[in-house]
Amino acid sequence: MPLLPVVFQVNWNACIQCGACVAVCPKEAGFTTPFDTIATDTPCDIACMACEKVCPVTAIDSRTATEQEQAELAAQPVALA
Ligand code: SF4
Ligand code: SF4
Repeated sequence: MPLLPVVFQVNWNACIQCGACVAVCPKEAGFTTPFDTIATDTPCDIACMACEKVCPVTAIDSRTATEQEQAELAAQPVALA
């Protein structure tokens, strides 16, 4: 069964902006926030959860994307490598 897309939240009070979550992330460049973390409030379709596991201060939390978010994700054009 494919993994469901997930949406991440970052606890900005805990984040030390170490960049580890972005470094480990296989998503395309730019799946980030202005604070150099993996994107928040945008569904991730890979859902490998490496970012959440690597965070040294457990600042990353996640939830399953809503049906509407999943539909919006499915409607996006597929990026060509
Ligand atoms: S779940 Fe994986 S692909 Fe998605 S943001 Fe985290 S590290 Fe990147
Ligand atoms: S791994 Fe954790 S502490 Fe480091 S930038 Fe990402 S959210 Fe912040």
